[in-house]
Amino acid sequence: MIIDLHTHTMYSYDAENKPVSAHVQAAVQRHVDVLGFTEHVDFFRGELLQESDFSGETVDFEGYRREIEPFRRGRVIPSDLTAQQKEIEACRETYGRKITLRAGVEMGQPHAAPELADALLETYAFDYVIGSIHQLSNDMDMYFLRYENIHPDDFWKAYFEQMHHMLEYGKFHILGHIDYPLRVMKLPHNRPSLRGYMDYVDEVLREIRDKGIALESNTKGMFGWQQQPGPEDFILQRYHELGGELITVGSDSHGPETIARGIPEALERIRQAGFRYVTDFADGTPIQHGI
Ligand SMILES: [Zn+2]
Ligand SMILES: [Zn+2]
Repeated sequence: MIIDLHTHTMYSYDAENKPVSAHVQAAVQRHVDVLGFTEHVDFFRGELLQESDFSGETVDFEGYRREIEPFRRGRVIPSDLTAQQKEIEACRETYGRKITLRAGVEMGQPHAAPELADALLETYAFDYVIGSIHQLSNDMDMYFLRYENIHPDDFWKAYFEQMHHMLEYGKFHILGHIDYPLRVMKLPHNRPSLRGYMDYVDEVLREIRDKGIALESNTKGMFGWQQQPGPEDFILQRYHELGGELITVGSDSHGPETIARGIPEALERIRQAGFRYVTDFADGTPIQHGI
């Protein structure tokens, strides 16, 4: 069983300019059984960021201005999901006997603009929604923080505060990459880890278990400095210990070449942590597949 529930096509602002069909073709070639599309829709508290609001020591504002600002439309980075869902529907007609396609979305910090997030959920029918934290309370993407000048304790506190607010909002099915900051916190002299912050992690794991939200294992870390899927094994084990049952896998691919990359390894790690099923969603309802 190969399943990939976290992928981005040309409808995501930071992905390769390739249509849905190119991704489906690549997935069929790789014998993927279930493929889910989750374009980015990111939400912000304010209309605009000002350079003067940030210290140059802690934020790379130029990076933000270059890579995020051009895609913002007020308080949202939108995605043309009407066109995307039409493409998915057309691909179901063409490839539906070879692969199951899911229409999802990755909402970044929906609690930052809950009324806009609600409107998105009312406009489109999704098989599932991934909730992710990409930005902290100052609307700055964590990608552009200068971690050499930020104490990890302060950072993780602020990050998990945001996660807590997102869980209060609660209208999503999968918690995306709980360890996302690890991708970008690496400095020459450190190997960042969630090991020292398990109080925060535990609270999140209990909350998603109680709310029926799935934990995601995201394989992107295998191809960065971490060399392994996230989250770290002890987090998978802890979630299992706490009675968590819903767990998804996703490549976080941003182009056809990386569809389903690392998924077999992620499934193996999940199995070793004690899980016997991997989760899929159709129309908001979890489906458990044996692994
Ligand atoms: Zn993400
Ligand atoms: Zn993503």
